[in-house]
Amino acid sequence: MASGDRTVSRSCAIKTETRPRGHLALWGLLLLLAGWLSGQSSEAAAQSSRPDDEITKLADDVYLFRHRFHQSIFITTPKGVIVTDPISLEAATWLKGEIKKLTDQPVRYVVYSHDHNDHITGGSVFADTAVFVSHAAARPKILEEADAKIPVPDLTFTDRLFIDLGGKRVELIYTGRNHSDNSLVVLLPQNKLLFAVDFIPIETVAYRALPDGYPDDWIESLKKVEQLDFETLVPGHGKVGKKEHARLFRGYLEDLRAAVQEQVQKGASLEEAKKTVRLPKYEQWQRYAEWFPENVEGMYRYLSERRKGQP
Ligand SMILES: [Zn+2]
Repeated sequence: MASGDRTVSRSCAIKTETRPRGHLALWGLLLLLAGWLSGQSSEAAAQSSRPDDEITKLADDVYLFRHRFHQSIFITTPKGVIVTDPISLEAATWLKGEIKKLTDQPVRYVVYSHDHNDHITGGSVFADTAVFVSHAAARPKILEEADAKIPVPDLTFTDRLFIDLGGKRVELIYTGRNHSDNSLVVLLPQNKLLFAVDFIPIETVAYRALPDGYPDDWIESLKKVEQLDFETLVPGHGKVGKKEHARLFRGYLEDLRAAVQEQVQKGASLEEAKKTVRLPKYEQWQRYAEWFPENVEGMYRYLSERRKGQP
């Protein structure tokens, strides 16, 4: 079934936001109905019926590229294309073909959001024309991986880097450690759009036990994001959000930290903390049931280690 879906989606992948809302509403209703009939959640129904690969136009020259559960943005200009996370070899190969349908211009830059290879594999597809860009701290990690499908960044930066191409300005900004120590954000000032991967989920709890994360720095990093001038927030997974979602997610991390800290100070064990800590305010968020206990675990381990480090 998946390969059939893929064939259909690959031939009609470009979607624009100009479609009538009624059409989308009806589609959503059908998905809900399908989910109800099959005993699945509406989310699961939506995921099983949607194509593997999809491109959605966000603005005149800005596109959202989704491959299964991962997504990135790309920008077309008269002087070339700027791609962000290539996601996988399969995804990037498909994307390259679709970009050729949109423009004669080559891909000039590939920007890695951070070093995690579920987002940046497949860049080799663009190596014939592109310069690869990342935060400086991502480079040694990518070098260590020695994966031919992940070209090593040619261009790195520590705080801020502007890419000016064909009249378009793309700002790469480092807001500190968060979900990794090298996550950058991509700001498109003309579009008031920000692309941020894995550290600002939209009304979704954090991924599992906060692997590779730095919770206190993460909160500070979100405060810096909140100071940037944008309206639309595009994450690396899930629905597109608004600037407000950065503040909401910071609130979640702060609430999680406070609740777990209380348990750590009481001397509760990890298991006790996982049983006790609940944040009802966020029960409606995606993945709460699955990942919240792991979020508690990640925060517990982090705060316990910190405590040990502070006599
Ligand atoms: Zn990641």
